Amino acid sequence: MALRRPGIYKSPDELRLMVRPGVLTAEALDAVAAVIRPGVTTGDLDAVAERTIREGGGVPNFMLVPSYRHTICASVNDEVVHGIPGDRVLRSGDLVSVDCGAEVDGWNGDSARTFVLDDPDRPEIVADRRFLAEVTEEALWRGIAALAGARGLNEVGDAVEDHVESRGDFGIVEDYTGHGIGRSMHEEPPVFNYRVRGRGPAVRPGLVVAIEPMVTLGRADTVTRDDDWTVATVDGSDAAHWEHSVAVHAGGIWVTTAHDGGAAGLAALGVVPVPIA
Ligand code: MG
Ligand code: MG
Repeated sequence: MALRRPGIYKSPDELRLMVRPGVLTAEALDAVAAVIRPGVTTGDLDAVAERTIREGGGVPNFMLVPSYRHTICASVNDEVVHGIPGDRVLRSGDLVSVDCGAEVDGWNGDSARTFVLDDPDRPEIVADRRFLAEVTEEALWRGIAALAGARGLNEVGDAVEDHVESRGDFGIVEDYTGHGIGRSMHEEPPVFNYRVRGRGPAVRPGLVVAIEPMVTLGRADTVTRDDDWTVATVDGSDAAHWEHSVAVHAGGIWVTTAHDGGAAGLAALGVVPVPIA
């Protein structure tokens, strides 16, 4: 029998409250997507995301993390996660993963996308980075699809790892995991992006998790830089990061941080998301 942890399951009323922060998180990342290009700074992206969240009636939940003062994390090239936005000017060909979250009425969303900027002078680097970003996003959707049919939460990591390995010789970062999400952005249980022993908590209505694979073009080992936040690959290889918050409810699953609940991303995988009633 799978381990039961009653504390991690939300009520139907609580699930309904998680829809709005998810949508607002998606809108903030849409706003980032609309302005990201060579010449803007990571601080510019942060300002756009903050404005979107506040105008939508939310609070940037990264600011609720002790000693973090920004709305997004922007991690460029060999940075994996937790890059601090600021004066860094984005350049042609950069790979930028942007992680963002909104809190509305005390409930949270958390999502990340990876962007690769055009660079006509370096088509091979851009192609490698786009492929990395694509494989990572595919792995995210595989993990979400696995959750839809899973009995145990650790089936998500099986699906992520299987997919990444099927696409080439990549590293899957194991130093960080996804997580439960609800009244706090980071809650139990951990969501592994790789195969682990045991089935994990039972997947049943009320479980809401952020699934967030981090994949590298080289080795998966990471180091935290002197700013105490930025996590980078030890070998300097590029890293991508995609994330969605996903609710399991009585009718099925719903990706709260996707405007369509994940329908487009899941279409090829035979999973149809169902709105939270
Ligand atoms: Mg995140
Ligand atoms: Mg997260």
